[in-house]
Amino acid sequence: MNTQLHHDLENLDNLLDVVKKQGLYFLNQVDERHTSNQSTVDLDEKLSETGLGGLQTLAHFNEKFEPMMVASTGPRYWGFVTGGSTPASIMGDWLATIYDQNTQTVKGQGDNSAIIEVETINLLLDLFGLPDDFIGGFVSGATMSNFTCLGVARQWLGKELGKDFAKEGITQKINILSATPHSSAIKSLAMLGIGSNNLTQVATLPGSREAMDVEDLEKKIVALDDEPFILISSAGTVNTSDFDDFRAIARLKEKHNFWWHIDAAFGGFAACSPRYKPLVEGWGSADSITMDNHKWMNVPYESAFYLIKRKHQFSQVETFQNSNAPYLGDPLENFNYLNFLPENSRRLKALPVWFSIKAYGKKGYQDIVENSVTMAQLLGQMISESEKLELLAPVRLNNVCFSLSGDENQEKVAGFLTKLNQTGKVFMTPTQFQGKKGIRASFVNWRTTKEDVELVMSEIDKI
Ligand SMILES: *Cc1c(COP(=O)(O)O)cnc(C)c1O
Repeated sequence: MNTQLHHDLENLDNLLDVVKKQGLYFLNQVDERHTSNQSTVDLDEKLSETGLGGLQTLAHFNEKFEPMMVASTGPRYWGFVTGGSTPASIMGDWLATIYDQNTQTVKGQGDNSAIIEVETINLLLDLFGLPDDFIGGFVSGATMSNFTCLGVARQWLGKELGKDFAKEGITQKINILSATPHSSAIKSLAMLGIGSNNLTQVATLPGSREAMDVEDLEKKIVALDDEPFILISSAGTVNTSDFDDFRAIARLKEKHNFWWHIDAAFGGFAACSPRYKPLVEGWGSADSITMDNHKWMNVPYESAFYLIKRKHQFSQVETFQNSNAPYLGDPLENFNYLNFLPENSRRLKALPVWFSIKAYGKKGYQDIVENSVTMAQLLGQMISESEKLELLAPVRLNNVCFSLSGDENQEKVAGFLTKLNQTGKVFMTPTQFQGKKGIRASFVNWRTTKEDVELVMSEIDKI
């Protein structure tokens, strides 16, 4: 064995121990850690011949890159929709690395770790109160989940037209309808060869709404003259956490032939709270659902899952089967994840989720969700009471969309946000909402408290 490797193997106890200590230190002071930075590093290093060994490499990392690490897992990182990591999810994540399974099958000779993934999906269906006629699996993020679901939708639509798009390629236009699709759904249309220009825009409801106007949807459906289509709907839009009316869409689905996809990347977590569950009522009738774990579930990146109705399993296997041979028999019988989703080799992504939902249960996730909404409402209230700031939309769930008051201050929004983020105390992202420049604060981190919101408001006041 190579001497450096041999030395590190002998020293493994110490190596893991120093990493644990460094990790603990980071997590214990994450509230004080900067949420942004501008430092840059030299990237002109060449690889050494003999290697540094683990300990020296850590020292080198600490000198060169560690200071760049921002507190994105902390309580005041409100940009994008960024979750943290619960303690139990870190346990599961570490073990996923240590066991290093290539998760494929539930009863294979060389691997049956997919049984953990199947159980985790079942527990998630229970957590979200979804019916068990969905089968699901883990992918790296909601983008990949949207891609997976829309890939199967594409195959389903082809079959409705007597085509096999997976084999033949797309030979005719695919109709896609949506009101406020996430950018990653549009990206998926591009990657899938459906074409992002093939999206038919459905109107949104009046006022500061991003939800679909279902009457307009029905008009657009009638105009399609019974051609099958794919509907992309939203459970939680990124600017204002708005929800399409799933009960109304479910009624339309009884009359019309379409694939119904819901992007519920973070909004699906409304189902964890009896108070917010009505927002997703009716979603169980969808053909496919996308959800992220690395946002509101608070498990480490990269983790999301898809849910696709069991009755579509043949379309799913036709889309993703890992050979040109016709699939023999029941795809669920010799089940292998590599025939159901884009990736072949796969990390045991389910384990951090399994740990976290087992450790904190339904109540734990109800508390995380309700706390996030309370914090969003508190910030929303402080903004509406401030003369210098205005809300661009009411706080519907966990996202706060606001701006500087007064049209004359529109040009100052970007500069203001840069200054605010430069404090390193908070991080938020810019947005554009109904023609106005705005700022978005998204609450999904399990550690955020009232003191964090107050601290941010005082930084805002100073600027
Ligand atoms: C974040 C998000 C996505 C993309 O998810 P990734 O995990 O970043 O790939 C898709 N849809 C919605 C609604 C989101 O909030």
